[in-house]
Amino acid sequence: MDSKQFKDAATSAIDEIINYYDTIQDRRVVSNVEPGYLKKLLPDGPPEEGESWADIQKDIETKIMPGLTHWQSPNFMAFFPASSSFPGMLGELYSAAFTAPAFNWICSPAVTELETVVLDWLAKLLNLPDCYLSTSHGGGVIQGSASEAIVTVMVAARDKYLRETTSHLSGLELEDAIAHTRSKLVALGSEMAHSSTQKAAQIAGVRFRSVPTTMDDEFAMTGAGLEEVLKQCKADGLQPFYLTTTLGTTATCAVDDFGSIASTLSKHAPPDAPGEIWVHVDAAYAGAALVCPEYQHLTTSFEHFHSFDMNMHKWLLTNFDASCLYVKKRKDLIDALSIMPSYLRNEFSESGLVTDYRDWQIPLGRRFRSLKIWFVLRTYGINGLQAHIRNHIKLGELFAGLLKSRQDLFEILTGPSFALTVFRAVLPAGSKAEQNELTKEVYELVNRRGEIYLTSGVVAGIYAIRVVSANPKAEEKYLRKAFDILVATTEEIRDSKSS
Ligand code: PLP
Repeated sequence: MDSKQFKDAATSAIDEIINYYDTIQDRRVVSNVEPGYLKKLLPDGPPEEGESWADIQKDIETKIMPGLTHWQSPNFMAFFPASSSFPGMLGELYSAAFTAPAFNWICSPAVTELETVVLDWLAKLLNLPDCYLSTSHGGGVIQGSASEAIVTVMVAARDKYLRETTSHLSGLELEDAIAHTRSKLVALGSEMAHSSTQKAAQIAGVRFRSVPTTMDDEFAMTGAGLEEVLKQCKADGLQPFYLTTTLGTTATCAVDDFGSIASTLSKHAPPDAPGEIWVHVDAAYAGAALVCPEYQHLTTSFEHFHSFDMNMHKWLLTNFDASCLYVKKRKDLIDALSIMPSYLRNEFSESGLVTDYRDWQIPLGRRFRSLKIWFVLRTYGINGLQAHIRNHIKLGELFAGLLKSRQDLFEILTGPSFALTVFRAVLPAGSKAEQNELTKEVYELVNRRGEIYLTSGVVAGIYAIRVVSANPKAEEKYLRKAFDILVATTEEIRDSKSS
């Protein structure tokens, strides 16, 4: 494809993408193809001769679209959103054009330096304490996902713990002590923490214990709950070295009680003392709300913690992937992840004057992801991003209000919290099992019909439906439509049960 052909193809692709976005609400939101559908539509191998873009592009609508679930549709209210925006897409386009696995500063100084600048901008915008800025001992780095961020910091936490608790030893004694301590290490996360913490523990080769949450309508981890688990770990001879706390849990968007967690931990080991527990704040989705001053009190305790991560690609209009990880001490990451074989040595890295982000992450190569964040921050500005979040919060309140207007049909279990409402369908005088069955039937029928797409969950043994009003294209009319569908479906199933 030469430049002229690229221009024609790109123009045609962009026209198609714009049309897709302008009409996305009219498509069935969730794909209903059968498993293996695509293999039947595609040839057994690539063509002998190259094909024209026109022929390739035709297959997008006929072969790919049927197998897409449209996350950008305003009828998509499932999981957490994966927001996209046109400035975000432009960032991806330039990133593709400048393709390079820019692992060291000298591989493309702009890739490193823009990342440092925009992540400092974002840290200030989110009201993170100054210790997370690159101008202090900390700094931010873009990872592919919140899960990747958790594995990365857990490895740093593990090595820091082992280093600090065995620093008085050497030789074989040191090797034995490390091997012994490793077998006792335990990573902690609340029972509502995302499963990525347990997965990270599996990858890092350490044990995992979960901390019970409160069983009121908060479902948050507290210092008291944590204290019990720490006591139990001690009794079992285990050594907790890492804890995930969550700002916006996946099931209910609960916020852990950071203040009481910080004070429990300071009793366990004074901050910065050997054996302190590394605390990571997983704010994958709800961290986006910190752009609004009314949520910024939530960051007060973060100076006592060690790392923080939020996904710009969930709720801040930045195309997947852009998970922004901050650490309070970049040295902890670098100590765990830096390897310097001869082929990576260069005068700039050795000068100590530049950042080599390869030492802040698991892979070596990295994409130019800061461009899209830069474009988004500049296009929307602080006011635009705040308006975006507040609009979704307001839509969440509207949806919860609609549910409350039909208490004969629905019961809200939690929320609206950060635009997430969790509720169940109600069967008058029904047992818990019957309520669960009804809610599950409503949920499954709504999704099967495919006009809207929702997810479900089980909270304290209660089967629940989750509705998230944080899609970039969310509007009041779509939430009202979702509510009407839920009312009609619940009535239909209840009627079929009573007849
Ligand atoms: N943490 C929380 C609170 C989440 O809700 C999710 C996913 O929704 C994750 C972590 C995992 O996110 P990722 O897909 O970026 O790994």
